[in-house]
Amino acid sequence: MSLFEDKSEKMTSVKSLGEFRLIEHLTSGIAPKNTSTIMGIGDDAAVIDMGEKYQLVSTDLLVEGVHFDLAYMPLKHLGYKAVAINVSDICAMNGDVKQITIGLALSNRYTVEALEELYEGVKLACERYGVDLIGGDTTSSTAGLMISITALGEVEKDKVTYRAGAKVNDLVVCTGDLGAAYLGLQLLNREKGIFKENPTIQPDLSGNDYVLERQLKPEAAIKYIKILKELEIIPTSMIDVSDGLSSEVLHLAKSSDVGITIHEDKIPVDYTAMNLANELNINPIFCAINGGEDYELLFTIAQENYEKLKKDPDFTIIGFVTDKSEGNNFIANDGSSHLLTAQGWDSMKNS
Ligand code: ADP
Ligand code: MG
Repeated sequence: MSLFEDKSEKMTSVKSLGEFRLIEHLTSGIAPKNTSTIMGIGDDAAVIDMGEKYQLVSTDLLVEGVHFDLAYMPLKHLGYKAVAINVSDICAMNGDVKQITIGLALSNRYTVEALEELYEGVKLACERYGVDLIGGDTTSSTAGLMISITALGEVEKDKVTYRAGAKVNDLVVCTGDLGAAYLGLQLLNREKGIFKENPTIQPDLSGNDYVLERQLKPEAAIKYIKILKELEIIPTSMIDVSDGLSSEVLHLAKSSDVGITIHEDKIPVDYTAMNLANELNINPIFCAINGGEDYELLFTIAQENYEKLKKDPDFTIIGFVTDKSEGNNFIANDGSSHLLTAQGWDSMKNS
């Protein structure tokens, strides 16, 4: 082999694998060496045996220009959101969040005052969620702002919920409503575009407080975890909705080795989000299925828990668990059945 051989043909682009396959690829062959590692890679948080309880650990990274645009994201909101989305992953394990650490990389464009604003949001979220900020790291960056947060939580051993665990005939439940965060982003992008073309035009965001709040200041699902505890329901499987409903349904189904069927007419969408979707000419169900960043919980329960849960409007039963052989399906309003894919459902482009 020549030393100067062009190896470029053998290179694989990260894009060709996609995020999930890349993680699988890079971490293949990694098996826990310590008996205390109960769950390593592959769920919303890692699970560590600490004796009486399990400890939960989860990390998320937010990158300027990828996850947020400071043209419309106030730094205080960004700080709050960065904490909330990490707390969300602890909730997805049915756990209570306790501590966070924060890693910051900053370009020299940031002033102390700007970072104070960011930390106002962080502190507010820590107050709201009862979390202690216990450390982190700060360094410089050549490309904007990056915030990496690690959240630590705990859960009683018999209450931990994984992505795996859904059983055939279980009910599929979703908290709150879906799609609004994506619509908030579409609205902000529209107004940013208009402002760029003509800076004298003021942004028209009136009447859309809900979708904007869902995008700019999402809340972690702590209140739903509390309700489930009160109702004495332990979901058989659970995940948080960070990437859109279809992607999360596929994660639960794959991890649990089952199929999942969801019904279009059951998917909860807020009415102001629905109105905005119509105005923007977007299918609101597309936003719910594919949008992401709603930070609701998606979980499965045994049918015997249906009576306990059905009266609470916070929870919507959107489908049921089937044998794996039936695949993952989306039943449209007209009764037609479609295969659910990571990008939505197979006929989405036509609907
Ligand atoms: P979530 O959307 O809930 O934050 P992710 O899809 O980011 O979950 O991650 C799925 C799993 O992969 C998690 O267990 C996470 O800890 C793990 N993971 C993500 N990126 C890496 C990485 N670069 N190296 C090792 N594990 C990773
Ligand atoms: Mg998650």
